[in-house]
Amino acid sequence: MPVAAQKTEAPKKFTPYEAAPGEEYMNEKQLEHFRQILLDWKQELMEEVDRTVRHLQEDANNYADPADRATQEEGFSLELRTRDRERKLLKKINETIEKIDEDDYGFCEACGVEIGIRRLEARPTATLCVDCKTLAELKEKQLGG
Ligand SMILES: [Zn+2]
Repeated sequence: MPVAAQKTEAPKKFTPYEAAPGEEYMNEKQLEHFRQILLDWKQELMEEVDRTVRHLQEDANNYADPADRATQEEGFSLELRTRDRERKLLKKINETIEKIDEDDYGFCEACGVEIGIRRLEARPTATLCVDCKTLAELKEKQLGG
């Protein structure tokens, strides 16, 4: 069954991978599955970026009144932040596709264990296993205090 996810945070739709018993983790088929998820996600994001840019251009021509312009500028900074987030995410997706190409995908960067198919489907750009991610977040909280 296709899984819906929040816009830009994760790919919208994919069919969960059914691994055969004893199937090797991150074999060609699995790598191909994730490559396809990432490519679809990238396509989605690029369309979103297009829309954001077009919206910014349209807005720029539409307001002459100063009060309108203030509202418009708020909208601008929001859209610019969105665009910035989209751009960073696109970069991350591209880096992840490179990792798949180099057959270096799906293992935790900190401890080397398998990140796991389900976790990667929810967050295909994940580079840490659940344990290391939790630990990293705890540390971040302590530092951010
Ligand atoms: Zn780990």
